[in-house]
Amino acid sequence: MPTRSQLLPYARQSVDEEDIQAVTDTLRSDWLTTGPKVGEFEKAFASFTQSQEAVAVSNGTTALHTAYFGAGIGPGDEVIVPAMTFAATANAAVYLGATPVFADCDPATLLIDPGDVEKKVTEKTKAVVAVDYAGQPCDYAALRAVTKKHDVMLIADACHALGGTYKGNRVGSLADFSTFSFHPAKTLATGEGGMITTNDTEAAGRMRHFRNHGITTDHRERQEKGSWFYEMTTLGNNYRLTDFQCALGISQLKKVPVWTKRRQELAKRYDEAFAAIEEAASLRVRPDVSHAYHLYVLQLNLEHLTADRNSIYQALRAENIGVNVHYIPVHLHPYYRKTFRTGPGRCPVSEAAFERILSLPMFAAMTDADCDSVIQAMQKVLSYYSADHA
Ligand SMILES: *Cc1c(COP(=O)(O)O)cnc(C)c1O
Repeated sequence: MPTRSQLLPYARQSVDEEDIQAVTDTLRSDWLTTGPKVGEFEKAFASFTQSQEAVAVSNGTTALHTAYFGAGIGPGDEVIVPAMTFAATANAAVYLGATPVFADCDPATLLIDPGDVEKKVTEKTKAVVAVDYAGQPCDYAALRAVTKKHDVMLIADACHALGGTYKGNRVGSLADFSTFSFHPAKTLATGEGGMITTNDTEAAGRMRHFRNHGITTDHRERQEKGSWFYEMTTLGNNYRLTDFQCALGISQLKKVPVWTKRRQELAKRYDEAFAAIEEAASLRVRPDVSHAYHLYVLQLNLEHLTADRNSIYQALRAENIGVNVHYIPVHLHPYYRKTFRTGPGRCPVSEAAFERILSLPMFAAMTDADCDSVIQAMQKVLSYYSADHA
């Protein structure tokens, strides 16, 4: 008998009647895109993340592309990114003609290792990208020391970490540029959506042009001035976020503190249950952070198990637990092996971690009973495959 009769997904959005009302109100308004909700969402988001500027874009990947453009990354530059991330963190550098250079992670937190970052800096390095893996802010003091010493930009891919803090400062205010995704698997959902935060007002202006074809005025500004004239000054894209998505974002943003608290409660429940188990270990949480828990990741102790990660994954799926794997180290993907001649051996800590990680269900609407069913299934599967009982 499976532990659950129905699948518990690893992530799920929370959308309530107030959110739906905000969207339908905007659908009845004059502006479906480039209207007033965009600036309103940007203002609320900048305030929430303790940043001067927020620039709304169409998704987390275009947020990375736009942030890297804002940071001045271009052909011939190197961008240091962690291997343990979603491919988009590296891909966005490639869009601009730059080369991603992969850095390894700390084995207990799976966060980018500032020591390895330092080793990978060259004359060509333009920026270091910190990914707040699983929602835990990186070691920004150590990363800032490296980027300051070598005079390069520090960019945060904070797609996991909205709602988190580092030494009391909000995620979004910790780097020169920070990026967010509003995909439904993330903390705040607008369907597709993204944001860049920065204190650099000049760069924010360039990023707003970049999301609008590189054109200096938008449709609403021209309508208000009664003018048809516009010029394209750089090669941009259409990376705009619609007004009804921004309306949803504004409504969702208010709930982020409550959702973060709930994620932390669930994580505590998992932590307490897994502390007693030999076959798996939770990731280490650094003392100076408030963790946003986009993901709850366990590392299997394969020495104590008779099965590999994939067999345990399959067994948990059979129990109707929606486990997942985040991530295949980016330098192992065929595209990077082929195009940048990467491959195994570049980031040994990330490669070894990849063989043992599992992401467990984690989202704000999960009940204590849901959480306990995951724990129960985990105990059942791990004790079945335990080498200690053999
Ligand atoms: C989700 C995610 C992205 C991409 O965001 P999309 O909105 O799906 O394009 C980039 N980086 C990280 C670390 C992510 O988790």
